[in-house]
Amino acid sequence: MKQGRIFSGMRPTGKLHIGHLSVLENWVRLQDSHECFFGIVDWHALTTAYDDTKSLPDHIMDMALDWLSVGLDPEKSAVFIQSQVKQHGELHLLLSMITPLPWLERVPTYKDQVQQLKLQGKDINTVGFLGYPLLMAADILVYRADTVPVGVDQLPHLELCREIARRFNYLYQVSLFPEPQASLSRQEVLPGTDGRKMSKSYGNEIAIGIDSNELAQKVRQMVTDPARIRKDDPGHPEVCVVHTYHQFYAPEDVASLEESCRAGQIGCVECKKQLTGKLEEILAPIREKRKSLEQKPEWVKEILAEGRKKATLEAEKTMALVREVMSVGW
Ligand code: SF4
Repeated sequence: MKQGRIFSGMRPTGKLHIGHLSVLENWVRLQDSHECFFGIVDWHALTTAYDDTKSLPDHIMDMALDWLSVGLDPEKSAVFIQSQVKQHGELHLLLSMITPLPWLERVPTYKDQVQQLKLQGKDINTVGFLGYPLLMAADILVYRADTVPVGVDQLPHLELCREIARRFNYLYQVSLFPEPQASLSRQEVLPGTDGRKMSKSYGNEIAIGIDSNELAQKVRQMVTDPARIRKDDPGHPEVCVVHTYHQFYAPEDVASLEESCRAGQIGCVECKKQLTGKLEEILAPIREKRKSLEQKPEWVKEILAEGRKKATLEAEKTMALVREVMSVGW
């Protein structure tokens, strides 16, 4: 007996990096306790990248490969592409009729993001971008999901979704939509190899499917304590990217590594080798699985088609009720 129903998704913007692993590992665990719907939310990708969509099909395939390699199991979950389940779009439209505009305008980060991207020469002052949180709400509500795994930064979006569910139920005097609860997941904010935010545009990311040589090279490039010139100089691990990674991936070794660093008893080359070994242990099985899936793109497409069927079945049940309640589509 499953404990509840979950929807979660990611925007397909390229190969995933190891900063995404903790979220995906949480999804993998939730598959056993919940009925899960995991969507590759390609319509969301269009809210910021509407003018250059050529890479979208590749990004969708990369995301499917990454998800399946990490352990999402199509036998347990519906794994699908958002734009293939049109009910997401229909619910978004219908909910837009009842959602007051200020609710969207007041979403924290909305104005900041518009401003930030404007500075980068990108105009996202669009209806689509303003409606992004509403589309998120539709993604969740179309499955009448009661639980959403989120990071702290996404809580305002989930609160909006709850408000919309409440407003719908109140306006039409029904209890059609549950108010979904957050399942807060630990989200690792891993820096990139140069200490800045991990991002493909900086070239400082470590992809989930990275090969061994490239992994070793990325770790060699990691920024360490600049005050350490010689191997026996006392180090300051708190300013070192390698140390941050050890904290995440080798918590059992971190105290002794820290002590050795401060005492000048371990060199950065050795310390990085140990980290490479740890990361290799974690990433090698994922890489192998990804490589084998890359050879079977048709099979991956079948999985997505199957996911689409499962998702559509549930989404359509919800939409039949919504249409009836709103007296549309008869
Ligand atoms: S020994 Fe390790 S923790 Fe210390 S500065 Fe070098 S890489 Fe960083």
